[in-house]
Amino acid sequence: MPTSEFQLIDLYFSRLGAVRADVLLGVGDDCALLQVPVGKQLAVSIDTLVEGTHFFPGVDAESLGHKSLAVNLSDLAAMGAEPAWVTLALTLPRVDEVWIEAFCRGFAGLATRYQIQLVGGDTTRGPLSISVQVHGFVDPDKALRRDRAKAGDLVYVTGTLGDAGLALLTAQSGYNPGNQSVFLQQRLDRPEPRVAVAQALCGLATGAIDISDGLLSDLGHICDKSRVGTVLQQAAIPLSDPVTDYLRATGDWSIPLAAGDDYELCLIVPADRRQQLEAVAQTLDVPLSLIGEIEAGNGIRCLDDAGHPVAVAREGYDHFRKP
Ligand code: ADP
Ligand code: MG
Repeated sequence: MPTSEFQLIDLYFSRLGAVRADVLLGVGDDCALLQVPVGKQLAVSIDTLVEGTHFFPGVDAESLGHKSLAVNLSDLAAMGAEPAWVTLALTLPRVDEVWIEAFCRGFAGLATRYQIQLVGGDTTRGPLSISVQVHGFVDPDKALRRDRAKAGDLVYVTGTLGDAGLALLTAQSGYNPGNQSVFLQQRLDRPEPRVAVAQALCGLATGAIDISDGLLSDLGHICDKSRVGTVLQQAAIPLSDPVTDYLRATGDWSIPLAAGDDYELCLIVPADRRQQLEAVAQTLDVPLSLIGEIEAGNGIRCLDDAGHPVAVAREGYDHFRKP
């Protein structure tokens, strides 16, 4: 049982993830010393998960370790950055070694897989909260920014949409997804950051966002920042079997269009790169679906099979929206 904060850090956080040559000094001093490769830009992002807001109290610690890093890697992917380093600020109500060990297992599994090293952090006592900051490298002018979409560009998404939202709905409303509940729960608890896809498409896509708050909300950010609109083909939205079943039963498109937590990527690609993009897509192990097109104007129009506009379901999650 560690008797001090320093023993805790030494035991669990001093050697976590990959061992990288560009870490000149890692955990243990006042700062980490890190070497950015010559000619690269540093991409930095932080996300906080708070118990009761972002996850249910008592959620599996290993999943939480995975997810707290995964959501950050998803931001690096959405910028087209190659992951390198991570810092972790952990606020714990008590020293529960079983919990910490499981958390570190989930965190380290993903960190090792993506060659990321934990290089520093902070450990404090208080209500459970996890802040993770990631650092990655991007070539100048290759970053997948939100403000570069142009009328005529194509809109793609990775994977399938609505799975995490349906998992949440299942937990909250008693909807029964039959034998698909394990798959859905996995999609909510263990999102797979689309780092490899983003790296492969970096020279082809000009913009991207990760779908954390729902497709309409997140794609809406690209539209706003780029001062453009989008026309979406609802029938082209990629769906898993349980979400297809749910839609057949309820007609509720808000799950794939507006529910968050999938951490798939929405990518913007100039139309003249379509063939090139689809050739690269063949080599990836995640499906890429063409779902719409950027157009002049603003906002998102969603069309059904017959080309009629469908009512846009609802907006993404906003922590500060007034009820
Ligand atoms: P300081 O008092 O200078 O802020 P700390 O006592 O907070 O230093 O941390 C000591 C060392 O341990 C630092 O290098 C810090 O980055 C690292 N550290 C503390 N907590 C964590 C953590 N949860 N994960 C990774 N490194 C940590
Ligand atoms: Mg500190």
